Amino acid sequence: PGTQLPFDPEKKTLVVLGSGWGTTSLLKTLDTTDYNVVVISPKNFFLFTPLLPSVAVGTLNPRSIIQPTRYITRHKTRQVSVIEAEATDVDPINKTVTFVDNSDIKGSVSSTTISYDYLVYGVGAEVQTFNIPGVQKHACFMKELGDAERMQREFMDCELRKGTPSEGVETAAFPGQDSKEIDRLLHMVVVGGGPTGVELSGELHDFLEDDLKSWYPELAGKIRITLVEALPSVLPMFSKQLISYTESQFKESKIEIMTKTMVKEVKERSVVLQMPDKSIVEVPCGMVVWAAGNKGRKITQDLMAKLPQDQTNRRGIAVDDFMQMKGANGIFAIGDCTATSYAPTAQVASQQGAYLARVLHQIARRDALQDRLSALEQVHAALPPVVAGDVADAAATAEAEAKKVEEEKEELKRQLAKFKPRPFHYSHQGTLAYIGSDKAIADLPFMNGNFASGGVATYLFWRSAYLSTLFSLRNRTLVATDWLKVKLFGRDVSRE
Ligand code: FAD
Ligand code: NAD
Repeated sequence: PGTQLPFDPEKKTLVVLGSGWGTTSLLKTLDTTDYNVVVISPKNFFLFTPLLPSVAVGTLNPRSIIQPTRYITRHKTRQVSVIEAEATDVDPINKTVTFVDNSDIKGSVSSTTISYDYLVYGVGAEVQTFNIPGVQKHACFMKELGDAERMQREFMDCELRKGTPSEGVETAAFPGQDSKEIDRLLHMVVVGGGPTGVELSGELHDFLEDDLKSWYPELAGKIRITLVEALPSVLPMFSKQLISYTESQFKESKIEIMTKTMVKEVKERSVVLQMPDKSIVEVPCGMVVWAAGNKGRKITQDLMAKLPQDQTNRRGIAVDDFMQMKGANGIFAIGDCTATSYAPTAQVASQQGAYLARVLHQIARRDALQDRLSALEQVHAALPPVVAGDVADAAATAEAEAKKVEEEKEELKRQLAKFKPRPFHYSHQGTLAYIGSDKAIADLPFMNGNFASGGVATYLFWRSAYLSTLFSLRNRTLVATDWLKVKLFGRDVSRE
């Protein structure tokens, strides 16, 4: 009774954890006729993260940058089970996964354990707060779809999440508001000068410049954005000239960059900063966005702790060149949950996913050959021995039978010896980031070197690159329509 997984006892079971960049790319390429495929993820959709900051300021509709996982799996040759649930435990010894239904609506069963032959582990990472006081309680994050939606609401609102410093634009516009209070309310602090923090600052600036100024002319000129970065410069992964270009553009846009400055605490109405000279300064602000990097999820730490001999890298799961988790049997890990020589980016995760899909196809063929070989070995063992005194015909038949089996076994062994998957090879397509005011920066590989560009033309390239990378025609249409709507009518500043 109940929902049964499409199960073929002849096939091995492949469980896929996650519906992000790595696993979605895997699902797109995977030959689902090879396995019983089960996908488990707490979000039943894929999120196109590069455009998340655009959702935070209302340029894009949240629905435009997500794609339900079933949209992908429904086109596969063989049915795939998609389960909306959070994996809570992986047992690498008994090869099982336990998962729970975390949704508000519960059925009669909300937790279960299933077995896998192969597991693709692609659960990504979570926000790193470094246990800095007040971050979890008072800051907005920029990692999940809900974070961007919440930020947009809080930006305009004054009381949505009690205890957050996001008093917002509407409160600042309240008649008779104290001018110091207006300055505080309209000061946005973005923590982290990585690409997430930079892109979000740029998007925030556009929103303030393009829309809020005309909607709230009395507040124009009072809105401030400060980007705080602990290291000596923002965007360390970009070339020096693009870092300088971004810094000068931010200066022009009146986005203040504070480098060598570390956030020590986030309070209800301020941030506490450790300045380059080590002095401590408390800066009043209306909203704090935390984009200070990521760390491994608890389930990943728990899984690694079960293989202490091989899993000692604090950055994440150690894998070999074939994306196999070291020390585990049948687990492959891809994307941000791994510790490799590659940066934790969508580009890396999606290439790893597509690569692994091809390897899994080879593995399915190898397993089929091995199963046939084992079956033949059993047949061989069961063949009656040729005994002296047998009737000549019977002896000849038994001998011919044994020879046939032996020949097939040799052929299978030859084919198995050919099974040598190539190691994963990453092909870098370049790094792009939007920096606001219709400008973007790009470091692109070019003739064994690097081509760095920044400006409006790069922004058009950024737009077309992301439009073509979006996984479906549906998403491309939705995003292009949102861009057009904003161009024609501006962003929506109303709130629910
Ligand atoms: P994710 O894409 O994070 O997917 C993880 C999946 O696992 C999710 O579906 C999640 O719901 C699921 N999951 C979580 N917990 C569990 C669990 N317990 N059980 C089962 N499933 C679980 N990279 C770029 O290359 N270019 C960019 O322009 C870029 N822009 C970005 C902008 C933003 C705002 C952010 C936040 C990131 C950006 N990145 C970019 C980084 C990129 O998004 C990540 O590197 C990428 O998402 C990693 O892919 P992944 O598959 O490892 O993880
Ligand atoms: P990140 O780790 O790249 O940057 C976080 C920054 O926050 C660091 O520079 C760190 O020094 C700073 N920081 C940490 N604690 C701080 C504190 N207390 N006070 C002040 N500063 C502090 O994080 P990200 O920007 O979210 O990027 C995560 C990954 O996603 C990276 O691999 C990045 O390349 C990728 N990404 C790429 C793009 C793009 O290509 N356009 C966009 C977003 C993210």
